Amino acid sequence: MANKIKPKFNFTWFYIAAGAILLSMLLFDGGNKEQIREVKYSELRDYVERGYVEEITVHDNGEVEAYLKKDSASNVFKGAEIRENARPLVITTIGSADNFDEFIFEMKKPDENGNTRFDGTLTYKRESGFFSNFLWSVGPFIIILFIWIFIMRRMSGGAGGQGGVFNVGKSQAKLFDKNNTPTITFKDVAGQEGAKQEVKEIVDFLKNPKIYTELGGKIPKGALLVGPPGTGKTLLAKAVAGEANVPFFSMSGSDFVEMFVGVGASRVRDLFRQAKEKAPCIVFIDEIDAVGRARGKNPSMGGNDERENTLNQLLTEMDGFGTNSGIIVIAATNRADILDKALLRAGRFDRQIHVDLPDLNERKAIFGVHMRSLKLDPSVDVDLLSRQTPGFSGADIANVCNESALIAARKKKKAIDKQDFLDAIDRIIGGLEKKTKVLTQKEKESIAIHEAGHATISWFLEHANPLIKVTIVPRGRALGAAWYMPEERQITTKEQMLDEMCAILGGRAAEETFIGQISTGAMNDLERVTKQAYAMVAYAGMSDRLSNLCYYNNQEYSFNRPYSEKTAEAIDAEVHKMITEQYERAKALLSEHKDGHAQLAKILIEREVIFAEDVEKIFGKRPWASRSEEIFDNKSNETPVTEPEVATDEPVTAE
Ligand code: ADP
Ligand code: ZN
Repeated sequence: MANKIKPKFNFTWFYIAAGAILLSMLLFDGGNKEQIREVKYSELRDYVERGYVEEITVHDNGEVEAYLKKDSASNVFKGAEIRENARPLVITTIGSADNFDEFIFEMKKPDENGNTRFDGTLTYKRESGFFSNFLWSVGPFIIILFIWIFIMRRMSGGAGGQGGVFNVGKSQAKLFDKNNTPTITFKDVAGQEGAKQEVKEIVDFLKNPKIYTELGGKIPKGALLVGPPGTGKTLLAKAVAGEANVPFFSMSGSDFVEMFVGVGASRVRDLFRQAKEKAPCIVFIDEIDAVGRARGKNPSMGGNDERENTLNQLLTEMDGFGTNSGIIVIAATNRADILDKALLRAGRFDRQIHVDLPDLNERKAIFGVHMRSLKLDPSVDVDLLSRQTPGFSGADIANVCNESALIAARKKKKAIDKQDFLDAIDRIIGGLEKKTKVLTQKEKESIAIHEAGHATISWFLEHANPLIKVTIVPRGRALGAAWYMPEERQITTKEQMLDEMCAILGGRAAEETFIGQISTGAMNDLERVTKQAYAMVAYAGMSDRLSNLCYYNNQEYSFNRPYSEKTAEAIDAEVHKMITEQYERAKALLSEHKDGHAQLAKILIEREVIFAEDVEKIFGKRPWASRSEEIFDNKSNETPVTEPEVATDEPVTAE
């Protein structure tokens, strides 16, 4: 199959050319057939007397143009070179046409030697100049206008004809298929088992659509890969295409955003037109948030209409193709939360696949993938390297491998050794600076103790959400995270809320109990606990002193509290009392299960991630096992809630 995608036309060249043409038209006043010099009237008379002039035109505004004989021109244009194909011309202005007429009449008479000094033609011209003046002053604008209209029509007409200069509205998608790229398969994607499992289904759909459609099933149209940069989202999408053996279109969301009105929408249209020709295929849109950010709530604020048009076009296209057309759109973003809800609706990007930073074992696997092609010295210890690179993304690790080869080559070594890798890691860390959080061993320990605190307490409280997984791999702004299976409930009892509170406080309680020092790492926890405690006391009437009172105020802009100063003090006191009680409870529980907690923290430091199984091995089965068993089977479709911790180095705004 021929590759239909035209090489990207660089539009700047077009602007430069157009600008140059206009400029030269203005400068050279309609071409350069003449070589012009402006002279004084006396000079002109002099030239005529000497017989240099062969043709004179007098305009009625007093302007005189006198063409010189070719061989005399060098006397007038002193020093300057006379161009081969240019007529030398001098211009000047005269006071009175009558006088000039008389002068020429004199010149036409033969002199004492019988020579006529001027034997050329003399013409008088009435200014038809209005029109040409008009043309020269307005012409360029008309030309610009025409070009503009032309571009606009091209764009809104949706990239009609192929190629040509005016293909702004064409999508700039890169096409990868069997012909121009080596196929990438799941083998090339290390780790990310969960994500791979989910996209495998898409591969199946693409390979055997009939099996699904014959049963009346609907093939998904879109999947959203969510995760930080460099974690292999593009790689994963390419692997899907590679495994299913279908073409792969790749485009970045920011490519849709242009300063011209209508370009984005037209590019979307063009992209899908191309995709339909190649179906079944994968369309990959990187950084979809560039177009997919939630549309403005307030239309009068203007907002970015152009982006919205593009987004609407994308939605229209996705709704437009049938579920059996064989196009699957995979989009990637770092932030699913800012996307327009319409994008996430059923039939569009209704599947979200999380692609997180790799943990220790996954990093090992990624090193494995990228070391395949390297010549390694036996001293290289993958285990150690993986340990040295917490917080690195897959792309960072690929970078380390590449950099180590460069370092070794610079030192003229035969193979890459351990030190080269360590140097490469140092260099990458230096380059990353703030972008990736690289934890020191001490920070890692303190985060592990904090997270193990949450894990321990939630294991021993009946109503705390059962834990699924805890990691200390930094995620975005968070330093660690725990996943819990939320319980579906319509009504929450006081006991449940208190248990939850206790589990959330478990992080800080562990810090205080086992490190003897508390940190800002718990800020996010404390915020949640405080909010919940206020809600319990002031709205749900769950405290002893203010029982059965609800001070909820549903007027949005009311500056009066619906209670007295004294009640406010009572609320504050009750909230404080409630939180303190739960904090003490957490500390007591932790002291009771000190050894288990220490083991958990140790595993966390070693492996960076623990699962419910690990906790069970240490503490034994949970007395309230009914729900957690489901979780071990991992069959549940519920999305677990994550509880991120705010980074310690985030600026704290004091009130
Ligand atoms: P993203 O699209 O998430 O920003 P990419 O897919 O572009 O990241 O990844 C960039 C590069 O990093 C890949 O080409 C690959 O070399 C490397 N990489 C990232 N994740 C992995 C992984 N899980 N396994 C192997 N290589 C990876
Ligand atoms: Zn915490």
